[in-house]
Amino acid sequence: SLTAGVVAVQGDVEEHAAAIERAAAARDREVTVREIRDAGIVPDCDLLAMPGGESTTISRLLHSEGIAPEIRTHVAAGKPLLATCAGLIVASSDAGDDRVDELGLLDVGVERNAFGRQKDSFEAPLAVAGLDDPYPAVFIRAPAIATVGDADVLASWDDRPVAVRDGPVVGTSFHPELTADSRIHGLAFFENEAAAVPSLEGRS
Ligand code: GLN
Repeated sequence: SLTAGVVAVQGDVEEHAAAIERAAAARDREVTVREIRDAGIVPDCDLLAMPGGESTTISRLLHSEGIAPEIRTHVAAGKPLLATCAGLIVASSDAGDDRVDELGLLDVGVERNAFGRQKDSFEAPLAVAGLDDPYPAVFIRAPAIATVGDADVLASWDDRPVAVRDGPVVGTSFHPELTADSRIHGLAFFENEAAAVPSLEGRS
């Protein structure tokens, strides 16, 4: 069975856990979800999700708890990470905010709270590379992806990138854990060739 970790220092943790369980069940995979609040758990995880919330808080706690270097090691080993909204900000290489100590795992620069005031929260049918039908994307005080370095844009809204892939890391400006549709989790964890979780073939 797979072990999934959800970074749980702050943010929408349970929703990610449920989405991971749905994505795994859709593939007849068993998964155990662990919440990460301390160092020592990430090394046991096959895949990781880093949720939305408040990026300055998440960043501070990841570093003070010693979890940040473990996430870097996880990604360096080619294991998948899905970083959403505030998680994307923390995973980026430039958060545009001194209070965020970026992990530098996704070669993008972001701008916090960049989708204007009147659009603070909205849902949009998003065409996503690798998905057959539009994805119902929920944006909440979403960051914009302002610069894209060595990463692939998977989706854009309003001519701005909102989903990117950099090897084993998928980042989204929106919240794929807040809808019943688990295809983004499926894409990040099971269908991203750079990082798909191990298949059970050949295992006992
Ligand atoms: N605005 C938040 C931040 O900058 C992110 C929003 C979210 O995760 N819903 O940290």
